[in-house]
Amino acid sequence: MGITAVLVLLNTYPLLVSQDLVFRSKATTLQSSVSVMVNSLSGLDELTEENVAQAMAVVEETGLSRILVTDSAGRILYDTRETGSAVGQYTFYTEVVQALLGNDAFTCQYKDAAFRSRASSPVLYQSQIIGAVYAYEYDTEQASLLEGLRSNLLRLSGIIAVVVVCLSGWLSRALTRKISQLLTAIRQVREGAYSHRADIRGRDEIAQIAQEFNSLTDRLQTTENARRRFVSDASHELKTPLAAIRLLTDSILQTENIDPATTREFVTDIGAEAERLSRITEDLLRLTRLDNSVLETPVRVDVLPVLEQVMRMMSLVAQEKQVDLTYEASGECTVLASQDEIHQVIYNLTENGVKYTGSGGAVQVSLRREETWVVLSVADNGPGIPEEDLDRIFERFYRVDKARSRAAGGTGLGLSIVSDMVKKRGGMAQAANRPGGGAVFTVRWPWKGEDAS
Ligand code: ADP
Repeated sequence: MGITAVLVLLNTYPLLVSQDLVFRSKATTLQSSVSVMVNSLSGLDELTEENVAQAMAVVEETGLSRILVTDSAGRILYDTRETGSAVGQYTFYTEVVQALLGNDAFTCQYKDAAFRSRASSPVLYQSQIIGAVYAYEYDTEQASLLEGLRSNLLRLSGIIAVVVVCLSGWLSRALTRKISQLLTAIRQVREGAYSHRADIRGRDEIAQIAQEFNSLTDRLQTTENARRRFVSDASHELKTPLAAIRLLTDSILQTENIDPATTREFVTDIGAEAERLSRITEDLLRLTRLDNSVLETPVRVDVLPVLEQVMRMMSLVAQEKQVDLTYEASGECTVLASQDEIHQVIYNLTENGVKYTGSGGAVQVSLRREETWVVLSVADNGPGIPEEDLDRIFERFYRVDKARSRAAGGTGLGLSIVSDMVKKRGGMAQAANRPGGGAVFTVRWPWKGEDAS
């Protein structure tokens, strides 16, 4: 559309401008020739065939096609046309009529590959119009230049049109090919082939969309893998206590004359397994709620009272395990969250500390403010965490030592609950080993005190 307009403009504007230039130059040359002739006739009181022929003989060769001189009535006194001279006849050319009315006249026409220009002026004697001079020029030289320009422009336009058509065809084919590649990739991924990637090179918008699509698919694949792993881990975790329960009930049912003490022991084990099951399901529910962003509306919570409450509770467990549990707090530690969440986070970390340190160990909890963060750290002098496991410790069901964790009643979900809860409130959780041995878990929430920004 746009290109058509450009081509039309290219084929008209330069031609119109050159035509106009030719018209103007014709007007000046022709009018000056006419005025030269008028000058040579001035001084005559009356125009006759003889005196006009005499006067005109002096005028230099003008190169004009035809020159007419008429008297005041329009009768031709002088005509340069060799064949069919119209001397003696009356002329009613508009230009001649105009001149006889006292006006200079000029017209120029471009027709049939020739410029036809006509000019005329009155001949005056003592302010009386005694006749008119009329000049006519038929020019094909400039016209052929113009024709040449016209045909060059036409050829150029043809070349431009062909190039544009080829180029746009090529571009649109490339574009269609890319889009259909992208569509295929989208369909494949929709069908579940998450490993499929759109292979579109380049730096145009389509390639950018393909890159975005690929990174979206990457995320989808990661999420899907995590979901699958989670489902298989969760079923495995649930299967183990269930299998134990079945084994124990079968033993009770199939052993004849089973003594009450053994029965009691088995039933106690069944109870313990059932309790583990309910702990796992509780933790799973908690995680699902976090995944679905079902969070309590955040309120300003002062972390210290919650910490003190957890410490009171945990100190009994610590005493029992002969672990030295201490805590210190400084600064105003207010965060935007819910009291239950804070409780859960501190509880999980402290419980792990006490659980994995064992008798004779020490767990130190500290709460402080660091610039815009409220930082809680739980450090112990237990076995620590192998360096290669540090990155994965917050994953669901991830345990360093499965048997030890199960024996200690762990579900493998405690740390992922901590990490998810803190992240949902704009904070983060980290695990590290202490230089002198033992692990340290650090959690930071954005500080939301009275004068926090
Ligand atoms: P669990 O229910 O097994 O404790 P967690 O998610 O709380 O699950 O912890 C994941 C794993 O991280 C644990 O199984 C344990 O191997 C390791 N871990 C957690 N806390 C500590 C700690 N304080 N010292 C050493 N290892 C720890």
